[in-house]
Amino acid sequence: MTRVVRSVEWSNWAGTESTRLARVATPRDEAEVVEEVRAAASRGLRVKAIGAGHSFTGVAVTDGLQLRLGALSGVMSIDATRGEATVRAGTPLHVLNEELSAFGYALPNLGDIDRQSIAGAVGTGTHGTGLRLTGLSAGIRALRLVLADGSVVACSPTQDPELFQAARLGLGALGIITELTIAVVPAFLLHAVERPEPLLSVLEQVDDAAESNDHFEFYWYPHTDRTQTKRNNRVPVGTALRPLAGWRERLDDDLLANRLFEVSNRVATRLPRTTKAINAIASRALAERSYIDASHRVFVTARDVRFVESEWAFPRRSLREVLLELRDWIDRHDERISFPVECRVAAADDVWLSTAYERESAYIAVHRYHRQQHGRFFDAFEAIATEHGGRPHWGKLHTRGADYLRECYPRMDDFVAVRDRVDPERRFGNPYLERILGR
Ligand SMILES: Cc1cc2nc3c(=O)[nH]c(=O)nc-3n(C[C@H](O)[C@H](O)[C@H](O)COP(=O)(O)OP(=O)(O)OC[C@H]3O[C@@H](n4cnc5c(N)ncnc54)[C@H](O)[C@@H]3O)c2cc1C
Repeated sequence: MTRVVRSVEWSNWAGTESTRLARVATPRDEAEVVEEVRAAASRGLRVKAIGAGHSFTGVAVTDGLQLRLGALSGVMSIDATRGEATVRAGTPLHVLNEELSAFGYALPNLGDIDRQSIAGAVGTGTHGTGLRLTGLSAGIRALRLVLADGSVVACSPTQDPELFQAARLGLGALGIITELTIAVVPAFLLHAVERPEPLLSVLEQVDDAAESNDHFEFYWYPHTDRTQTKRNNRVPVGTALRPLAGWRERLDDDLLANRLFEVSNRVATRLPRTTKAINAIASRALAERSYIDASHRVFVTARDVRFVESEWAFPRRSLREVLLELRDWIDRHDERISFPVECRVAAADDVWLSTAYERESAYIAVHRYHRQQHGRFFDAFEAIATEHGGRPHWGKLHTRGADYLRECYPRMDDFVAVRDRVDPERRFGNPYLERILGR
């Protein structure tokens, strides 16, 4: 039997959203998901599946039934000829990476962390960096969903293609995904080169760096002219592993990137005027490092310091201009930003609600420590972003509504038409979806 808990408080990872749930259920298989959705409908409850709760927006919020799909985990099959794996929807990315790796496979690209569930990650358009690579949703080849009426449907480019197009990045608005078939590649190693570089010289050669590396990104430290760049490139099969020494990993990733960073953020929150000095010290502490490791170990880092985030996608060539406008705004205002600004790139794709829909994209993400007010800074960035045709990441903070979003996501009306068909009563609705989709 599904385990059921009644009336619990829930909040997301960042603490930006909280709600009282009427019911929480942990179905063990698809049949139990169907039962739960039907029972919720008969009681008039709205329904949401939750992944790891790592979205900053209210996309995963419900006041009704929350379905926790932790029991629907693991790789079900791998088709080597087609280069795809069928996986259960609740599989956390770190489990998926390990299981794929055990079979000699990997996801072609990943974001910064691996705590999300696969269905949650594709549900908001999670992406990494790399101009020849897309976000995770574009890799989906087929899906199984439980719809609002309790029916189970399979969709793919040839089977209910409209539902497939919408559900590859479905915002949890169309149904409960139970299985996904996703593109995989033979496991590969990446050579990572990370080094501090001056902002203006990075911006001068950013197009070349994005084009000539498999994965290029950089972090700019506000109030300084310093960045940390990351270039990750595939190495030929047979290259030996050269992972980071344990002490180096503990020093850079555990101590500097997490524990000391937490302390410095607490200090900057109590004494904002110290922020510039702290950033100067932090960016000077960055050192060059180079290592070769399994792709998922290179892509992913631990993020223990809690923060809030807003990220926007732009036409790729706008990166420099947008970032310089943001720097200019920070320079002109008395706002102390203790978190680096992250800049990435991605290939164009054909996913209806993708931030990279039919456009090569640059991403700029701003963050604030979770105990600091983000309002003025994020609002200022949003104003710059919208001037440049920015598309907001669906899982990260923004204030835009359907009118703006319809302008920058040209397939929004097609998405809403599919939603009207499969969920006319808005069983999977919530206030965030009402705002961004208009109803
Ligand atoms: C520390 C941190 C680092 C991050 N790094 C990146 C990054 O590098 N790149 C990037 O693009 N994003 C990044 N994000 C954002 C994150 O990847 C997305 O917000 C993602 O959606 C979170 O996945 P989740 O499993 O927590 O999903 P949740 O936030 O729990 O849910 C997201 C949506 O998916 C829906 N959903 C979940 N499961 C199902 C299902 N089975 N069927 C239907 N709908 C479902 C939910 O209802 C909700 O609508 C980061 C977030 C954090 C907190």
